[in-house]
Amino acid sequence: MTNDSTILDERRAQVFRSGSGDIDIACNRQSLAGAVSQRACVFCGSRVVLYPIADALHLVHGPVGCAAYTWDIRGALSSGPELHRLSFTTDLREKDIIFGGEPKLEAALLELIERNKPKAAFVYSTCIVGLIGDDMEAVCRRVEEKTGIPVLPVQSEGFKGSKREGYLAACKAMFRLVGTADISDVPELSVNIFGDFNIAGETWIIKDYLERMGLTVVASVTGDGRVDDIRRIHGASLNMVQCSGATLDLAKMIEEKFGKPHCRVSWLGIEDMAESLYKVAEHFAHLDPGIMERTADLVRSELGKIMPGLARYRADLEGKKAAVYVGGAFKAFSLIKSFRHLGMEVAVVGSQTGTKEDYAELAEVTDPGTIIVDDANPLELQEFIKEKDVDVFVGGVKERPIAFKLGVGFCDHNHERKIPLEGFEGMLNFAREVHASAMSPVWNFVPRREARHRDVGKECGHDE
Ligand code: SF4
Repeated sequence: MTNDSTILDERRAQVFRSGSGDIDIACNRQSLAGAVSQRACVFCGSRVVLYPIADALHLVHGPVGCAAYTWDIRGALSSGPELHRLSFTTDLREKDIIFGGEPKLEAALLELIERNKPKAAFVYSTCIVGLIGDDMEAVCRRVEEKTGIPVLPVQSEGFKGSKREGYLAACKAMFRLVGTADISDVPELSVNIFGDFNIAGETWIIKDYLERMGLTVVASVTGDGRVDDIRRIHGASLNMVQCSGATLDLAKMIEEKFGKPHCRVSWLGIEDMAESLYKVAEHFAHLDPGIMERTADLVRSELGKIMPGLARYRADLEGKKAAVYVGGAFKAFSLIKSFRHLGMEVAVVGSQTGTKEDYAELAEVTDPGTIIVDDANPLELQEFIKEKDVDVFVGGVKERPIAFKLGVGFCDHNHERKIPLEGFEGMLNFAREVHASAMSPVWNFVPRREARHRDVGKECGHDE
C-alpha cells in the first residue's frame, strides 16, 4: 500500500480506489498551496489553447519569464504561416509595475502588428498585470481602431484559478471572432474540429477521415488554426468537441448564439475513434444516406492496416501494468481502452482538470483497486507507481522524470510529443511507443526491480 504520510490530509478527498464504495472525489478546485501540483497556471491554460492559431500574433503582457515558460509550448504543426512559434512579450520591469504597463503594451502591439502583419492579435494577461490593474481591454480597443485587425485581450491572470479558467479565457477571446465573416458558401455537410491541436500533424489525419466520409471541415480549433476560419465557425452544421475542458465552452457559446449543435468525440484508440466517426456520420445520415456506408468502409480499411501490428505488440505486452496521468480526463478514458487492446491493465489513473462526472466514469470503467487521483503531485505519483509496480507511465514532460527515476517505461502523450497518436494509425504508433519503452531491457538493471528480474530469469530457466 501507499505510504500513508505521502498524501497530505487536505488532499485525501482527491484520491479514490475503484471498488471501495461510491465515488465522491473532490476536484475542480484550486491546487493546495505547497502540495507542488503538476498543473500549469491559468495563463498557461489559455496559451496552450490559442497557441496553434498560426497566423495570429501572440503577445504576453507580463514579465519575460511567463513568455519563456510558454514559448513554442506545443508541437502544433502548421501547413502555412508559423507566426505562432514566436513568443513576444512586453517584458514588464519594475518601472512598468510602479507606473503601469499600458504605454509599453500599446507600443509593442503597434510595432509587432506593423512588422508581422498578423490576421489578429491575442494579448495575454499574466499575474502581475492582474495585480497592477492595467486596462488591457482599453489598450486593445485603441490598437484595433488604429490597425484595423482584431486585437483580443485574454483575461488569463495566472493566479485567478485553475488551468480550466485559462481554457475559458481562451474560449471567450476566440468567441469575439466568431460570426464576423461570410458563411454563404459553407455547405450543409460541414463540421468544425474542436479540441485538437495538430500535435505532430494529428488534425490532418482526422481531417482526411472526415473528407473521405464526404464532410467539409470549416475550421479547426485550434490545430493548424487560422483566424479567418474561426470567424466562419458558425457556418458549420456540427461542432465535434474533443478535449472538453479546453473548448467545450466555445461550443456551448456557439450553440447558444447560433444554434449549431455539438457532440463529444475522442480521436484516440480504436473504439473511440470508430465510435466518434459513426456518431458524426449518424448526425448527417438524413442528408446523405451513403455516409454510414462510406464510414464503415473507412473504419474497416484503416483497421485492416493496423491489426496485424497491434497483435504483434500485444503478444509481448499482455499482463503488463500502466499508470496514466493526463491533463484532460477524456484522454484517460481512451487510454484505458487502448491499453485493454494491448492486454494491459491501467492500475493508476489521474488528471489535472477532471470533473466529478469524469471521475465517476473512470471509477466505472477501471478494475477494482485502481487508484484514481485528481490534481496529483510528484510524490503521490511516485508512491502510486511503486505500489502498483507499473511497467509504463503515460504522461507529459513533467511526468517523464518521475518515470525514469523510478526505472519504469514512459510514453509522452502530451503536447510536446513528435509522434501522432490520434486516428487508427495513431493507435499503432502508441502501441509501438509503449512496447519500445516497457520492453526495454534497461529496466532490468534498476535495483528496485532486481528481484523481479531474477524471478523472470528463473521462470525462463536462465541462471542469474
Ligand atoms: S502568469 Fe503568473 S503563474 Fe503563470 S507563468 Fe506568469 S507569473 Fe507564473
